Formats: sequence, C-alpha cells, structure tokens
Amino acid sequence: MILDDIKKEIDKANRIAVVTHENPDGDAIGSSLTMYMALKNINKDVDVIIPEYAKMFEFLPCINETKKSSDEHYDLVIAVDCATEKRLKDNNNCFNNSKVTIQIDHHEANKMFADYNYVDPVSPACCQILIKVLKYWNIEINKDMGVCLLAGIITDTGGFKYSGVTSETFEIVAWLLDKGINISSVYRRVLQTISKTKFELNKIATSRITFYENDKIAFTYITVEDEKKVNAQLGDYEGCVDIGRDIEGVEVSIFFRELKEGGYKVSMRSNDYVNVSDICLMFGGGGHMKAAGCTISSGTIEQIRDKLIAQTKRYLK
Ligand code: 5GP
Ligand code: MN
Repeated sequence: MILDDIKKEIDKANRIAVVTHENPDGDAIGSSLTMYMALKNINKDVDVIIPEYAKMFEFLPCINETKKSSDEHYDLVIAVDCATEKRLKDNNNCFNNSKVTIQIDHHEANKMFADYNYVDPVSPACCQILIKVLKYWNIEINKDMGVCLLAGIITDTGGFKYSGVTSETFEIVAWLLDKGINISSVYRRVLQTISKTKFELNKIATSRITFYENDKIAFTYITVEDEKKVNAQLGDYEGCVDIGRDIEGVEVSIFFRELKEGGYKVSMRSNDYVNVSDICLMFGGGGHMKAAGCTISSGTIEQIRDKLIAQTKRYLK
C-alpha cells in the first residue's frame, strides 16, 4: 500500500516541508495546515510554506506559523492539492531540491510528478482525502485540524452543492460536528461573508457579463485597473466566475482576470455536461470537469475570449 510507503518516508525524514499550489484556495490551505499539524503532533520537524493567502483564511489555526518561502534542502517535501509541478510556482525549487517528494491530491488530470503520488480524483476535496490518510496512519485529528479540513471541504464543494460531493463528505461533516466544530461559523467565514472590496469587484464583473451561443456561455472579466480602483485584496476575484454560471440556461461560465505581469488568468465553470478541464488542458491548464483554469499570456481580451468560445462551442449540445 502506497500509504505505508509514504509513512515510512515520513518516519525516516528529519526536516519536512508542506507546500501547495499558487493562489491557494481553502482546500489548498486547509490541506497544508492539517498536514503540518499532523506531522508536528507526531514530533516531526516540519515547515509549511504558503507565499500568500487571502485575508479570509486568517482565522484558520496555525496559519500564523506558515513560512513565506524557504531555500532549505529538505529531506522530504509533501505537496497537497496540486495537480502539476508548475502550479507549485514559488515553491518549485523547494520541491525539486528535496531528497524525496510526495504528493496527495484529488485532480483528475494530476501529472503524477512526485516520487510517491497518492491521487484520488473521486474525492471532492483534498481535505477529504487527508481525513482517510490520517486515520489510516492512526494520527489523531484534533479540533484545530478539523476546522482546517472543514474549510477545505466547504470551499471545494461550493458549500456541499457540487456534484462531486459523496456520502462520505456528509459522514465526515457529521463526525466533525460531533467533535464540537461550529460548521455554520466556518461556512460563513469561508464562503458567505464577502469583503466590501470583493463586493465592488463582483459588481464590476456582473455589469460586464455578456452571453454567447444562445446564452449557453457567459463571459466576463476584470482588469488590473479595476482591482486598483476598488483597492482589491488577494482573492477578491474568487467567485466572479460563479456569477455567470448561476444564470439560468448557462452551461459554461468564463472569467478572465488580467495579471499584473501581463496576460490573463482564465477560470471556467460548467453546470452539467461540458468538460472544462479538457478545454483548459488545450491551453496548458487543467482542473476538474466542472471547474478548471489556465493562464494565457498573449493576445487581447477579445482574441482570447474568441479562442475559448470557439473551443467551448464544440462541446455544447
Ligand atoms: P480557479 O478557476 O478557481 O482558479 O480553478 C479551478 C480549478 O482549476 C482548481 O481545481 C484549480 O486547481 C484548477 N486550475 C486553475 N488554474 C489552473 C492551471 O493553470 N493549471 C492547472 N493544471 N489547473 C488549474
Ligand atoms: Mn482542491
């Protein structure tokens, strides 16, 4: 069993680091912090490296113990919730300099880039996998870890509403509830409450929505200038892609965020049958069937929009 091999590597290692993907979401941060606490609790010498994260995650236990970067050569680096090595971005060197590498993830298009790859695409969140993994290793999941795990499960399932949710998701949440974790409070903090600046950015994205292909595709974008205007904070653009997706008749929502360094970060969501991961893979990205992304660095908004719409069209019924 690969989990036994991974545990052996953990037992052998002196210095361990936990890393995740760039622009980390709740699942990435929740998974990282849980793995960090789990290893600390079994007396491992461990760092958790997260270069930057959105303000709304500041309430998570141990988040103030994260490092922004590290040049150290670790005995073992564990990547969580990350489909490709490229998406480790600033932590790429740290990963490559490690003696042994492990990854735990739930992306279908995972590139199996580590020495040991534990990937379960059926799981709607990496945090859901970690619960199984920690139980298998007989590592106790305390309340702090439970809060982080719940934050990841809630964000990656859109509040238990995405189709990837399994019966196990609810069993886990019931178990966390019995542990005394305030589900409602975590839910509100990671999913419901939005900052004033996020609200302003959402307003701009909403006002720009246009429809294509008999209203089956919704498209919108925000620019660097928009973000400056509303004094946007990191992560305020999260959720802009959901506005179009939630409109009746829309199958695919496409959202662009202009990047400071040039180019656009593309987010795609589908409701029912279009595999947006396949579309993003064509542009060097990836993700899940109903939630995927890529970065496109050349072309105007209109050119990139038209390219994506042309591909998306082929998948529409
Ligand atoms: P989002 O649109 O929220 O940035 O990302 C949606 C999903 O697609 C997430 O699961 C994320 O990991 C994945 N994703 C987003 N951008 C990329 C990318 O550039 N490459 C890959 N492989 N996956 C991505
Ligand atoms: Mn995830």
